[in-house]
Amino acid sequence: MSSRVLPQFDLLTPQSISEAVAMLAQYQGQVAVLAGGTDLLVWNYIRKLKPDYVLRLSNLDGLDYLNYVPGEGLRIGARAKVAQLLEHPDVAEKFPALHQAASTFATPQIRNMATIVGNVLRASPAGDCSCAILALGGQVLLQGPGGQRLVDIDDFWVAYGVTKRKYDELAVELRIPEPTSATRSAFIRMTRVHEDLAKLNVAVRLEMSQDTCSQARISMGCVGPTLVRLKQTEKLLNGKKITDELLQQLAASAQDEITPIDDQRSTADYRRQVAGVILRRVIEQAIETH
Ligand SMILES: Cc1cc2nc3c(=O)[nH]c(=O)nc-3n(C[C@H](O)[C@H](O)[C@H](O)COP(=O)(O)OP(=O)(O)OC[C@H]3O[C@@H](n4cnc5c(N)ncnc54)[C@H](O)[C@@H]3O)c2cc1C
Repeated sequence: MSSRVLPQFDLLTPQSISEAVAMLAQYQGQVAVLAGGTDLLVWNYIRKLKPDYVLRLSNLDGLDYLNYVPGEGLRIGARAKVAQLLEHPDVAEKFPALHQAASTFATPQIRNMATIVGNVLRASPAGDCSCAILALGGQVLLQGPGGQRLVDIDDFWVAYGVTKRKYDELAVELRIPEPTSATRSAFIRMTRVHEDLAKLNVAVRLEMSQDTCSQARISMGCVGPTLVRLKQTEKLLNGKKITDELLQQLAASAQDEITPIDDQRSTADYRRQVAGVILRRVIEQAIETH
């Protein structure tokens, strides 16, 4: 038998969120949730998880929305695809970091299958939408047998591949806050080829008053076991006028703050060297593209 054959599992097809949650509770951690499957059904990932059950979301109606709610922000249902980020005019205008992450994400085929929530729930340090969402700030809405709870994106990833989601909870929605008129954001990633995962990705959200940044959120991927906020570097930026000299200091600070490793996509040394350069570029991009 081919070594690429998927392991055996039973397929669960709930017809409602409450039925899905009841199934997750009943099979106590033996269930893998299947959204678009572009991570889960990759052979080496599902082989590692070896779930007894796979619970697919395809029959859950009403979860494929991507709505901009004025005054509140973006609401993304668990079945909304990455491609939808490119079709919604408010995403490009108000959440450019997320739009830029979606436009460099894999291929049209993958973007039409992959969900945004799946990207966050995979808890990969290379997730592109996840990187943009960490910079923009946001919350994950989880639904379990006892009801719903919101987890801040800053606290959501606890280790490589591990989130705050409990085994009997389904992620039902992502919430990204409304930007202000002073908000600027941008995303950049480096890859070997377009279809590949990032070897480094960076996103920023800046609150600007002319050329001074009053508050910054900086996220970086592929430089640790989870995506990280560069909080020391953010502090250097907060309240400062963005000058060439400051950008150089920020680049040096970012290099000190990260803990990259060697893997099949890049080396720790290279990642450390380019992290500062890419951070500088993403800040310039956020300011210029407004
Ligand atoms: C060829 C290829 C190229 C790729 N390129 C990129 C890229 O450029 N950038 C990038 O970031 N990623 C990339 N990926 C990875 C993948 O496409 C993304 O991570 C995608 O967003 C995952 O979404 P999905 O809906 O397919 O998730 P799935 O594979 O269905 O699930 C991913 C994980 O999330 C869990 N999960 C999903 N939804 C829920 C839910 N509602 N509640 C609880 N748990 C849930 C699943 O159990 C699983 O652990 C690529 C993958 C492939 C195969």
